[in-house]
Amino acid sequence: MDWPKLLPALAALALSCSGSAEASLKEGPSVVCTTAMIGDLALEIAGSDASVEVLFGVDMDPHLFRPTRDDVKLLMAADLVLYNGLHLEGYLTDALERVGDSGVEVIPVAERVLLESELIESGPAPDPHVWMDASVWSRVPALIADALGQQLPSERPAFTARAAAIEARLLAADEDYRRSFSALAPDRRVLLTAHDAFRYFGRRYGLEVRGIQGVSTTSEASLSTIEELVNLVVQRDIPAVFFESTVSERNVKALLEGAKARGHDLQVGGVLHADAPGAAATYEGMLESNAATILTALGAGREAAAGADVR
Ligand SMILES: [Zn+2]
Repeated sequence: MDWPKLLPALAALALSCSGSAEASLKEGPSVVCTTAMIGDLALEIAGSDASVEVLFGVDMDPHLFRPTRDDVKLLMAADLVLYNGLHLEGYLTDALERVGDSGVEVIPVAERVLLESELIESGPAPDPHVWMDASVWSRVPALIADALGQQLPSERPAFTARAAAIEARLLAADEDYRRSFSALAPDRRVLLTAHDAFRYFGRRYGLEVRGIQGVSTTSEASLSTIEELVNLVVQRDIPAVFFESTVSERNVKALLEGAKARGHDLQVGGVLHADAPGAAATYEGMLESNAATILTALGAGREAAAGADVR
């Protein structure tokens, strides 16, 4: 390959690409979302009528995210910022406030869609993991369509139509999970996870939920919490505990060892995606993957227990 000849061509290509990127940015409003749970919906609703960027990667723990100067620049340059709120974006919250003060439309999505009576408190702090309840999150598409429609009124009908399609899918998924989880034996409906991200999920789909860490991963699990959960596992004969893709495995391993020391065969039920889609790639993929993982682990536990009774 003749590199000296190719280089000017590459430079020209780069120039034309950046030129066209600028042009496409100017075509519609620019939207920045913090989480994929918001961003995936916004991307679909925006279509080619607005540019959408998602700040947190699919493997990122939002509780621990610290914004860089570039992140703040990106937020400041946006027309619309959509974030979760309820203190999910701990270290980013100050920056989001400053961005809002500078005149950018900044919307805390979870705070807007959740009714006050639906809020789960965790000590002094609100529980931010609202997306785990697909029925509540099915209200988000309409909110995004409305916010985009205010930015670009000519495309409001298109935004609304795309939002309605997502809403219908989420409500169908919600119905499916309600049916599937209600088929689990009542004594198997205990969900033990790395951090306390599944309480909205548990309330909606009928599972008792215990996290080893609190609602934020910034707090450490204490030895007494591990001990208390080992007791619970042994007393209630809980078959499985779950890893989370964005949370360290250390605490879950401590629980596994604690249960083993007491002669209880606690299994790893699989990896759940609590605060980011991880390998499940999208928000809806993450709901689907979590439901399947939990149903398999807790359902299989029941079969194993039934087999043990026969012997
Ligand atoms: Zn979390």
